[in-house]
Amino acid sequence: METDEQRRALMQRVRQRKTAPEEAVAALLRSLGITYRRNVRSLPGSPDFANKSRGWAIFVNGCFWHHHTACGRATLPKNNADFWRAKFAANRSRDARKISELRRTGMRVVVVWECELEDSERLKRRLSDLREANRI
Ligand SMILES: [Zn+2]
Repeated sequence: METDEQRRALMQRVRQRKTAPEEAVAALLRSLGITYRRNVRSLPGSPDFANKSRGWAIFVNGCFWHHHTACGRATLPKNNADFWRAKFAANRSRDARKISELRRTGMRVVVVWECELEDSERLKRRLSDLREANRI
């Protein structure tokens, strides 16, 4: 049986790990000469990166918390499975709501998944292609 204490410790660990992917995405954007602001609270959902005048926003999502579909990192803890299932469902619906709110304001929205950083060259090409297509 998982205690509240163990659950808190797990959440804490995952939360701390979350900052590394954002730093890596920041470095990729800079290397492509893409200018941005971080944690833009004036936009729905406070996107991790955004450029309001160019009209785009990027969320960097941890695969565990945001429960990336068909991703090996999107595990379901065995203890308190119902709690986690409900939590992930709530996170995913919040994500969908934030994205549609942003799109309604006319912003283009990109989601970068934590696992995409396993191949940062590939992610860099993806971001570069998005820039070429004027999506970011
Ligand atoms: Zn993933």
